[in-house]
Amino acid sequence: MASSHPPTSNSNIPDYEYLDVNTKPFHIGSFRNEWLNRLKPSDYSYQRDDDDTFDANFMKEMGVGAETMAELKSICSPDSLRCHPEGQQPDTELVPPEPMLQTLIQRKKRQDHRANQKMSKNRHDLYADELERLIVGRKPESTADIIPEGEIVLTINVYYPITSERINTSRPHMSLLMTGSHSLAELRDAICCVSDLQVCGEFSNTPDLAPDFISKDLFKSSFFFFEGVFYNDMRFPECQDISKTTIEWAKARNYPAFTQAKMEDTRFMDLTIKVGFPYLYCHQGDCEHLVIITDIRLAHKSDCLDKKLYPLLIRKDRLLTQKCTVCHLFIGRWFTTNDQYAPSDPCLFCDKCFRALHYDAAGNKLGEFLAYPYVDQGAFN
Ligand SMILES: [Zn+2]
Ligand SMILES: [Zn+2]
Repeated sequence: MASSHPPTSNSNIPDYEYLDVNTKPFHIGSFRNEWLNRLKPSDYSYQRDDDDTFDANFMKEMGVGAETMAELKSICSPDSLRCHPEGQQPDTELVPPEPMLQTLIQRKKRQDHRANQKMSKNRHDLYADELERLIVGRKPESTADIIPEGEIVLTINVYYPITSERINTSRPHMSLLMTGSHSLAELRDAICCVSDLQVCGEFSNTPDLAPDFISKDLFKSSFFFFEGVFYNDMRFPECQDISKTTIEWAKARNYPAFTQAKMEDTRFMDLTIKVGFPYLYCHQGDCEHLVIITDIRLAHKSDCLDKKLYPLLIRKDRLLTQKCTVCHLFIGRWFTTNDQYAPSDPCLFCDKCFRALHYDAAGNKLGEFLAYPYVDQGAFN
């Protein structure tokens, strides 16, 4: 994909449309075939050559003799990366006060920075690190669950709708790894969005009756939009084709024709897309997320090879939680309007403060106000 390459006539090989931004459209399955045609099976095999075979191949490829090979191996060995006298076992937790080694210099910088900031890792970051450690090169328990050699792995970034002008970051809300055999419906199920959890309705008279069912169970329709095609979720009888209005609107105004397909029948392998280009995921009527496929490659032996762990979450942004206006301690569960007890309109309360302020001991409503269940955007933290 380097810009210096002459333009390729093969449309299955990605080429930039805008340099360093996005590619021209290409078919993912055909792109994979281009790779498989050019590589030897050993190139993408998960099996590692044993050391002797590796050495023999290396010597042949580099044109060096056994003596040079032995010398190279000893110089490049991790054992030669020593900053302490031979035979002495240093404390690996202890960073020397004036390190010379770049890795130690960087580690010391980080350590000093932390100490100054008085920052310690919170449980979310700790967990994220642990997750990463658990998945690298992970093999499944059963061979039936292994990602086949030569499978495509996609990196997908999902962005949250921007709800406030103040918070205008371009960081993805979540990054996922998926394989070419996954369907778009599996991507839809992997996207966590708080608007799927909302409970609709006013419950000031009957706060205990706020239903447990959530928008996701009620309004199941959604679509992805890739390269002029709407991929609708039609898995359940309640699902509607919510792309129809847009398609008909475009048709009536002589826009290029859009088409539609089912997301559950479409695998990534079947898609024609541009890498780096923002596409759309829309659910709950008007909750819109940008979806960007940032990378497509063959699976590697150091990937997580357990099929069951995919779609694999590799990064998730933590969203700020909104605390109760009264106690500033617990996360908001209710918001009220036209509320004589509230300092603002609308006003957010945790369940405890909401009930203590608005109902007597017998649970009778005090005064006039309207109350709506609230699900915080940090629910998925
Ligand atoms: Zn959403
Ligand atoms: Zn509270």
